[in-house]
Amino acid sequence: MGKRSSVLNKNYGPLIPLKIAAFYAVIAGLWILLSDEALHLLFTDPITITRLSIIKGWLFTAVTAILLYFIVHRYVSALQRKDDKLLEVVQGVSAATGEAFFQSLVRKLAELLNVDYVLVGNLTGEGMTKVKTIAVFGKGNPMENFEYDLAGTPCADVVSGEGKMCFHPAGASAQFPQDHLLVGMGVESYIGTPLRDADGRVMGVMSILNCRPFESKNEAEAMFRIFAVRAAAELERMQRVDDLQAAEARYRLLFESNPHPMWVYDLETLAFLAVNDAAVIHYGYSREEFFAMTIKDIRPAEDIPRLLGSITQVSPGFGKSGYWRHRKKDGMVIDVEITSHTLSFDGKAAKLVLANDVTERLQAETSLLTQFSQISTIFDSLNAIVYVADMESYRLIYMNNYATSIFGSDWQNKLCYEMLQAGQTKPCDFCTNDRLVQNGEPLPPCIWELQNTRTGRWYQCTDKAIRWVNGQLVRMEIAVDITEHKDMERLKDEMVSAVSHEMRTPLTAILGFTEFMIENEVPRQEQETYLGTMQREAMRLNELIGNFLDLQRLRAQNHSFIFMPLDIREILEEAVSLFHSTSQKHNLIIDCPADLSKVRGDSGQLYHVFTNLISNAIKYSPYGGTVTIAARPEGDMVVVSVSDEGIGIPAEELERIFEKFYRLDNTDRRTIGGTGLGLSLVREIVHTHQGKVWVESELGKGSSFFVALPVAEKEL
Ligand code: ADP
Repeated sequence: MGKRSSVLNKNYGPLIPLKIAAFYAVIAGLWILLSDEALHLLFTDPITITRLSIIKGWLFTAVTAILLYFIVHRYVSALQRKDDKLLEVVQGVSAATGEAFFQSLVRKLAELLNVDYVLVGNLTGEGMTKVKTIAVFGKGNPMENFEYDLAGTPCADVVSGEGKMCFHPAGASAQFPQDHLLVGMGVESYIGTPLRDADGRVMGVMSILNCRPFESKNEAEAMFRIFAVRAAAELERMQRVDDLQAAEARYRLLFESNPHPMWVYDLETLAFLAVNDAAVIHYGYSREEFFAMTIKDIRPAEDIPRLLGSITQVSPGFGKSGYWRHRKKDGMVIDVEITSHTLSFDGKAAKLVLANDVTERLQAETSLLTQFSQISTIFDSLNAIVYVADMESYRLIYMNNYATSIFGSDWQNKLCYEMLQAGQTKPCDFCTNDRLVQNGEPLPPCIWELQNTRTGRWYQCTDKAIRWVNGQLVRMEIAVDITEHKDMERLKDEMVSAVSHEMRTPLTAILGFTEFMIENEVPRQEQETYLGTMQREAMRLNELIGNFLDLQRLRAQNHSFIFMPLDIREILEEAVSLFHSTSQKHNLIIDCPADLSKVRGDSGQLYHVFTNLISNAIKYSPYGGTVTIAARPEGDMVVVSVSDEGIGIPAEELERIFEKFYRLDNTDRRTIGGTGLGLSLVREIVHTHQGKVWVESELGKGSSFFVALPVAEKEL
């Protein structure tokens, strides 16, 4: 080491010149002082002393000049050598790239800085915790590359922390006892600098390890900094090249091993530039045959104009896809789905194509679509809602005519819950999706009932997961309107409970009296009273059953009404005559103009209407009074009113009294028998006549029931 000298090891900083100047001042001072003293001791003759002094002065000047010459000469040549060395390093490294660059760099740096070891390495390992050297120069020779853990080494500080240059001028081994390499090499001083990429990320490290303490830190550091920048740039370039090569290899693999046929063709000549194995296998042409053809040669003749049109509209970009037909070597024409990407290939504008043979898929889809269109014709003829929705996105895929007639025809791309329910912004709580599929397989249908919030009607829904044309599982629902059925059922239940309830009262009375008369000796007079009550109750029972049957019959037969022009006065008189003998307390008056137009009606049914209303007027006037039955023309209707002076009806009950089995329950009425069916029968009949019925009443003063019937056409 001692033999090798380095220009940079010499200290040409301000210290040496200062030392020289001080040394010179001392020597010169001593010389001036001592030489004059010596002359005066040795000689007494002043002339001799003066002459000798002049010679001494000349001598001093000559010695000083010679000294100055040597110092300046040495300094200038040292600078010259330094420049030469630097130039040599720069030239040495600029010619090379890659590993040769780093080999040259470490050698030149070691020589230039006269240090024992120089190494360059890049970060590697998981979490970048290791350094792998790219070039190492040690003890005058290139060394084998090696890998070491960063932990515990001075390089760790270089890489981590602020990633700045680290300088340990002396005692490096003592400072990093865990760094066995450092200790083993007997390193005393250390300089390390991070190598950063263009984004400032640390990629590697460049270090100097010296077995002696460093003397001239500044210059070494400056040199090191200059070459660190160049080294970092080269390291980044090498990494980019590696990445590029890896990417190229990956793409090559993707291209070559892709199971779908792929090729690249020249956009100008349309010639194949590259084809993969799958293309060779699938199309039956060898690579050589492909390269001798253009892409026109694999198209059926009729497709070529479209092909040429599409090529002229080339725009760079990925994923341009479309359906085409190709011809294989054996002449078979196949349907392919093409995905293409325009690129530059060997400097030519080219297109990369991936061809997916979809012949079988399209055939299957076409046959499924045909089947589906047949099925949809059937669905359209159904009087039921049929719709299909995606089970994940809830998007509607199909709705039959019946459903569109209810929910509207703009269902495409809408969500089922938004379209089919009112105000629903998220999937319905009652959605059956979860119950239709298990382990990716459809389960048996789910049958359930629901009242739809948009139509308010009841439906029996049959939900089933089915495979759609694209193979995806979707939910199909068939919803049959069961509102009528539901109403009937409810009506039936109501009727059964109401009728049985209504029957119980007269039956209890009849049974009570019968039992009493069987068990007791009853005088004839009392017997008559009891039998009278029993007869009344039996009649009430009879009326109830009669009314009930009438209502049922009416429902069943409302199409068999016989409508004809009727003189309403005749019907009213006939109805009133029924009641003349029943009550002494009531006065029945008919107020009907003689020239009243005939109405269109069924006489038997209208007779029912008016007997019911007159019977009620009498029943609900327990203290007697006048019952007026009036008729008057009103537009193309005849309005008949039945007014009494009875107990009246509370305003809030006016609407409800027309409901089946609806009876007002208060003390006044409790004693008045009834079935609650009369007015509903009246309403039913009047509606069948396209007429209207309503009531006006004042509590405690009386009620007026109005029936408006259309005038017979002949009369108009
Ligand atoms: P009901 O067999 O009870 O008479 P309706 O259907 O004929 O049954 O009448 C329903 C209810 O309407 C009766 O219970 C009664 O309370 C009330 N109502 C009907 N007509 C009159 C009327 N003219 N005056 C007062 N209330 C009446």
